[in-house]
Amino acid sequence: MAFSQLDFPAFAPGSVWLVGAGPGDPGLLTLLALHALENADVVVYDALVAPRILELARPGATLEHAGKRGGKPSPLQPDISLKLVRLARAGHRVLRLKGGDPFVFGRGGEEGRALAQAHIPFRIVPGITAGIGGLAYAGIPATHRDTNSAIAFVTGQGSGGALPDAVDWAALSKGAAMLVIYMALHTLKPIAEKLIAAGRNKDEPVAIISKATTDEQTVLETTLEHAAADAKRAGIEPPAIVAIGPAVRLRHELDWLGATAAAALEATR
Ligand code: SAH
Repeated sequence: MAFSQLDFPAFAPGSVWLVGAGPGDPGLLTLLALHALENADVVVYDALVAPRILELARPGATLEHAGKRGGKPSPLQPDISLKLVRLARAGHRVLRLKGGDPFVFGRGGEEGRALAQAHIPFRIVPGITAGIGGLAYAGIPATHRDTNSAIAFVTGQGSGGALPDAVDWAALSKGAAMLVIYMALHTLKPIAEKLIAAGRNKDEPVAIISKATTDEQTVLETTLEHAAADAKRAGIEPPAIVAIGPAVRLRHELDWLGATAAAALEATR
């Protein structure tokens, strides 16, 4: 059956779709996300949406940037929500496109609530979050039988930019063998110190995956003790996720992307 024959929900004028665009590789878009891109009148996208994905928007659609990026001036969240309401009331099909998944550190909840309160019909389309897509493209299983029965997605940054108050690092250190920390580049040192103080092994393997699933993806392998210093020395650029846990070691066999690149290079020799 062709893509066009699938029975997609109608994207009605005057409604808003909050859609996850995945971590970067356009191949990781969902079919619903592609359907939304092909039908939207206005695409309000955030800074993490890859330019190659925006190129899939319907010719003639208006593209509006409404990004939030740590440390840089960005539109206030209520302004973005108001913009969505205003565009929908003007009768547009509004696509709010976010990196990864809209409900994973994506403020999709806030925007959805604003739409609900304004009685604007909306739909949530999940996307592949950086923690899932990034691990897969680095060859690190998110769960692994026997060693890795629980995984936690955690933010390394509170709303002020410092360590988030709401995260209990000591409890987390015992609660999940695999910790995937978003927005952690600036707070990696205190996070590692807290985890080690709570009993995690200082030699535990850590992978820092930058620009995951894009052509510029890099993976730095280090240990909990040295992660912050190594990240600084290597000049890791955001966006990046930090994966902490024994399953990071499996990358030595599962790094299919590195293996594919090496084989391609070999073939050209
Ligand atoms: N909604 C997004 C997360 C937004 S918060 C999602 O589900 O993925 C922003 C953080 O996400 C970044 O600081 C980084 O930690 C992570 N992130 C987003 N895209 C990424 C990518 N391509 N590679 C690595 N980390 C990424």
